Amino acid sequence: MVARTSLVAAACPDCGQLSDRVHAYHQRRLADLPVGGRAVVVHLRVRRLVCAAQSCSRRTFREQAPCGDPAVGAADPGVDRPGR
Ligand SMILES: [Zn+2]
Repeated sequence: MVARTSLVAAACPDCGQLSDRVHAYHQRRLADLPVGGRAVVVHLRVRRLVCAAQSCSRRTFREQAPCGDPAVGAADPGVDRPGR
């Protein structure tokens, strides 16, 4: 079973520039979910994107997982979010 992030573009955590230029794919194994009596391994495909801003020092960044990735979601201290 493969889940993949469906966002077309993601924002660079440093400069906020949206990018849809894929640098690489990472496959993360999320969980073994017992479904109907058999274990199903969920693989999440996460993209590493190239920041489109030439002035940005961060060349590539990993796309945020949409849900349920504790390594990404929980501790997210200093990343500035688009304020409103
Ligand atoms: Zn950037």
